[in-house]
Amino acid sequence: MPTTRIVIVGGGFGGLHAAKALSNEAVDVTLIDRKNHHTFQPLLYQVALALLSPGEIASSLRHILRASRNVQIILGEAVGFDIAARQVTLSDGTALEYEYLIVAAGARHAYFGHDEWERDAPGLKTIEDAVEIRSRLLLAFEAAEREAHFTGGRAPLSFAVIGGGPTGVELAGAIADLSRRALAKDFKSIDTTQARVRLYEGASRILGAYSEDSSRKAARQLEQLGVEVCTDSLVRAVEPGRIQVRDEWIVTDVTIWATGVAPSPLAKALGVATDRSGRVLIEQDLSVPGHRELFVIGDMAALIDANGKPVPGLAAAALQQGQHAARNILSDVQGRSREPFRYVDRGSMATIGHHRAVAEFGRWHLSGIPAWLLWSVVHVFLLIGFRNRLAVMLQWIWAYVTRKGSSPLITEFQRTEKNVLK
Ligand SMILES: Cc1cc2nc3c(=O)[nH]c(=O)nc-3n(C[C@H](O)[C@H](O)[C@H](O)COP(=O)(O)OP(=O)(O)OC[C@H]3O[C@@H](n4cnc5c(N)ncnc54)[C@H](O)[C@@H]3O)c2cc1C
Repeated sequence: MPTTRIVIVGGGFGGLHAAKALSNEAVDVTLIDRKNHHTFQPLLYQVALALLSPGEIASSLRHILRASRNVQIILGEAVGFDIAARQVTLSDGTALEYEYLIVAAGARHAYFGHDEWERDAPGLKTIEDAVEIRSRLLLAFEAAEREAHFTGGRAPLSFAVIGGGPTGVELAGAIADLSRRALAKDFKSIDTTQARVRLYEGASRILGAYSEDSSRKAARQLEQLGVEVCTDSLVRAVEPGRIQVRDEWIVTDVTIWATGVAPSPLAKALGVATDRSGRVLIEQDLSVPGHRELFVIGDMAALIDANGKPVPGLAAAALQQGQHAARNILSDVQGRSREPFRYVDRGSMATIGHHRAVAEFGRWHLSGIPAWLLWSVVHVFLLIGFRNRLAVMLQWIWAYVTRKGSSPLITEFQRTEKNVLK
C-alpha cells in the first residue's frame, strides 16, 4: 500500500526531532542534510575552547536513526524548491518529490551587510567553525610565545568577542579561563594570565534576553574571571588584527563574532512571505500560509504561538516544533485535526567559564555554582547518545579536577597560520 512521502531538510534540532517523532509510523521519511551528523550547538564553544573534542558533541545521523526503519538519510545540500510540483532540488541536480515537506535548515550569523568581516571575525555555528576558532586561539598563544622567545618580549595577547548574548558570554568566560588557568603553566616566554579578554555589546547590558538581575550577575562573574565587559560599545569595523569600537581602534590577536542571526538562504529560496529578518512567517500549525503540506520550523521560522508570544530561536523551541510538525502530519494522515503550537518554556541558562553560570526558570533566578551545576546536568542529559554523555561527563570531571581541557591541539595549522602569524 502506498504510504505518505515526507521529506525533511536539515538534521538539526528541528529536523532530527521531526524524524524521530515520525519514526516507525506508516509514512516514508527522507531526511536530507549536508552534514552526516547532528551537532549539539549549545556545547560548540567547548570545542572552540579545546574543552571537548568534536566527536563528543556530534553524532552520526545514521547512527541516531538506525532503528527508524521508515527513515532514509541522504547526504546532500538542498538548493531550491518547486512548491507547485512538490519537489526539492539538491545541489547535484537531483530532485526529490514529497507530499509533505518540513524545512529546518537553521540560521547563520549576520554581519549586518559586512560579510567581509567574517574572514577576520569568524562566528560559531558548526563543528568546522569551532575547530577554526580553536586553531586561531591556540595559534595566537603559539605566535606570542615564539615572538617573546626570539625578541625577549611581547605585549599581552588581546582577544575580542563581539556580541554579549549567551554565546558571547560563554566564549569570553571560557577564553579567560583558558588563558588564566588551563594554559597558564604551559608557556615559558609569555604570561598567558596577562591576556586581555574583551566582550563588546552594543546595548546597555549583556544577556539582553535575560532579566536585569541575571545580566548584572553575569557581568560581575565575567569581571571576576578577568573579562572586560564593554557595553554601549558598537563595533563599527573589523579588519585584520584590529576592530573599531565607536571611534577607537583596538588591536586584537583573535576576534570572534557572536551576534546577529540570519536564517538559512533556503528561507528565501522557498519564495514565500518572510519577516524583516528573512524568517519564514508560519501559521500556528507550523505550516506556511496557503501551503498545508509545507512546514518551516526552528531558527528559519517566525511565529507568535498559541500562547500569544514570539517563539524564541532556541534548541528547545526547534525541538518542540519538530515534534509538533510531525504530529500534525500524522493527524492529517490519520484523519484527525491539527493542533496549534504552544512553546513550553523550560527556562534559559548561560554558563560563564569554570563554576559560573546564570539560570532563569520563570520567577526563579540562580547564579554561580548552583546554576553551573544545573547547567552541566541539563546539558549532559540533552546530549544525544549514551556514549557521548559518558565521554562529556568524564571530560568535565577531568577538567574540574585538573583545570585542563581535553585537546589543545592545532589541527588546521596551514590554513589558519596566514590569519594569525603575520
Ligand atoms: C554556539 C551556539 C550556542 C547555542 N546555545 C544554545 C543553548 O544553550 N540553548 C538553546 O536552547 N539554544 C542554543 N543555541 C540555539 C540552537 O542551537 C538553535 O536554536 C537550534 O539549533 C535551531 O535548530 P534548527 O533545527 O532550526 O537548526 P539547526 O540545529 O542549526 O540545524 C540545521 C541543520 O540543517 C542543515 N542544513 C542547513 N542548510 C542545509 C541545506 N541547504 N541542505 C541540507 N541541509 C542543510 C545543517 O547542516 C543542520 O544540520 C545555540 C546556538 C549556537 C550557534
